[in-house]
Amino acid sequence: MANARQNMTLRFFGAGGAFSRRYGTTCSMITLSDGDRWLIDCGRQAPDQIHDAGMCWHDFVGQIITHVHGDHVFGLEDFAFQRFFFSHGEIVATLEGGPRPKMIAHSAVVEEIWQTMAPSLRYIRNTDGSLASGTLSTYFEMIDRCGGEPPRENPWRHSESFESGLMRVTARENEHVPGKPSCSLEIGVGDDPKDGRIAWWSGDSTVDPELLTALEPRTSLFFHDSTFVDYPGQVHGFFALLERLPESVRKKMVLMHHEDDIEDHRARCERSGFRLALPGHVYDLITGKRIA
Ligand SMILES: [Zn+2]
Ligand SMILES: [Zn+2]
Repeated sequence: MANARQNMTLRFFGAGGAFSRRYGTTCSMITLSDGDRWLIDCGRQAPDQIHDAGMCWHDFVGQIITHVHGDHVFGLEDFAFQRFFFSHGEIVATLEGGPRPKMIAHSAVVEEIWQTMAPSLRYIRNTDGSLASGTLSTYFEMIDRCGGEPPRENPWRHSESFESGLMRVTARENEHVPGKPSCSLEIGVGDDPKDGRIAWWSGDSTVDPELLTALEPRTSLFFHDSTFVDYPGQVHGFFALLERLPESVRKKMVLMHHEDDIEDHRARCERSGFRLALPGHVYDLITGKRIA
């Protein structure tokens, strides 16, 4: 899939929260400077979002998953089956020897992805017709971690890092539903791995001012899930806490995974320096500017 070199970008297919009807569930596309395209998360509306964008599963090299909730993974079965059974353009079906899409996810998340998908993906046949037992690797090329940090508060590793082609990403344990494997993403931007620059993606996470402030000098953009609804045991980025982040962080922050009434809050958001993600928006991950 080698195209002319281009800026590294992120395009929103779905920009709404778990129960959004207006903005769609989470699925975004990263395009690397060599033209390779990856998806971040694959929510329940992803198959239709991608179709509506005039694209198909064969356009993507890989998939990154932050955590297992329906609004982040329920599109995966469509991805797996379509690539496994069908050829499109130059991309041959996996069943006929074509490439599997790659997958990057923290090992604790991978376990839950398989728990969710096994009843659909487990049942396959060998070429002689005998029954076999599929695994996630039957459908996706699972990328092994190349680094990470040992467990802290939870039993799984605090962070795991991955590299595949020009994609470099660290999946870091975040605080979403207590005890549940869930990660934020530090996505390497620029072609030089040594410069340390990243774009940051919250997945679903409560606000961690210490982490965000520490990352800010080398971060082009923070994409943060957000909510205006507070409740005991908050599991998302509550706006009143996001509003208290340093201005340097807020100016780089794009609010996503928001509720359907986000336009009611636009003025307050923009006054504090935030930008709002909508489906179809495209960001340049090097300059931090929105380009579409
Ligand atoms: Zn979510
Ligand atoms: Zn979630």
